Amino acid sequence: MTLCGGGPLLLVLMAAADQPQPAKAGKPETGEAVLVIHGGEGDLPGTPDKPDEKVLQEYRDKLTEALQKGYEALNEKGATSLDGVEAAIRVMEDSPLFNAGKGAVFTHDGRNEMDASIMEGKDKKAGAVAGVTVVKNPISGARAVMEHSRHVLLAGQGAENFVMLTREKLEKSDPKAATKLEIVDRHYFWTPQRWKELEEEWEKEKKAGGEQGRLPSARRHLGTVGAVALWDGHLAAGTSTGGLTDKLSGRIGDSPIIGAGTYADDRYAAVSCTGIGEFFIRYAVAYDITARMKYKGLTVEEAARVVINDELEKADAEGAAIVLGHDGRFAIAYNTQAVEMSRGYVTRDGKFSVAVYKESLSPPKPLPPAKK
Ligand code: ASP
Repeated sequence: MTLCGGGPLLLVLMAAADQPQPAKAGKPETGEAVLVIHGGEGDLPGTPDKPDEKVLQEYRDKLTEALQKGYEALNEKGATSLDGVEAAIRVMEDSPLFNAGKGAVFTHDGRNEMDASIMEGKDKKAGAVAGVTVVKNPISGARAVMEHSRHVLLAGQGAENFVMLTREKLEKSDPKAATKLEIVDRHYFWTPQRWKELEEEWEKEKKAGGEQGRLPSARRHLGTVGAVALWDGHLAAGTSTGGLTDKLSGRIGDSPIIGAGTYADDRYAAVSCTGIGEFFIRYAVAYDITARMKYKGLTVEEAARVVINDELEKADAEGAAIVLGHDGRFAIAYNTQAVEMSRGYVTRDGKFSVAVYKESLSPPKPLPPAKK
């Protein structure tokens, strides 16, 4: 039997080659990029077993838009890698699809408490906000802490007051930056899908005899967002989240903790993580990935794999990370529980690829024109 003669067998093989191949834990996806993003891992909301193609397409479209906006921001005059990271994350924060900003999950008592951080790899400046409830785009709040305060991490009402005051101050000197620090009513963050997810948790707790605010035991949609960028030789990383559904009020995860959920060092890599934050804090995951490059000379793929697949897997901790090296090579690593991560990247010449659910990233194709 020959495969070169054409006919039905060849057609079947060609069709199979077009199909997205399942993503595999333990083998980081790699390539070259100026911007890599993730929209969290776990089941997609409402469709744990077999996602609807319409839902998958909504995710692919939003990831593509985040890459477009991030790439556009990078290409503006005088832009830095921070601009690409912030612009891409803002798109995902404004969408109810992801667990950040608009789509943030609820605490046990029905509030939305959001965390975010951003870091640049040249001087290792960083900013973060934790437990904010009225900041429309927590990633921009985090950047304001980095650029307009003496601190790295502000929490709760103090963080919110700081964002409001910074906005007022910037209104005259830099109106464009001021508009990014929008304050909204808490109800803005209420979405039916997230409320339903909280009610399901309450129900499970009731059945389990009222045990409250424990870590998720079963797989579910986590949906934290993150981005890493390399521009003009400098790296930046950012992460934004609503945390975990049904978390105790006041719980802060890894996303606003520099070294846990986010890290950037121009000599090594920029990292943004997603997964059960308690483990990421205890294992200092984002920093550990760069430390393995620094002290052991590992590549981005090796460092990401060792930390996400060996260390975390041993601890039975679900999680994933996007890592962008100083040379533009990236690694996207997820462990067995986290194969369904939404993710994407764009190359220096504006070619992109996105993948959701069990798909693998494909060779990059030209970015469609950005929607205004
Ligand atoms: N790491 C986030 C947290 O624990 C959750 C996530 O990544 O989905 O707050």
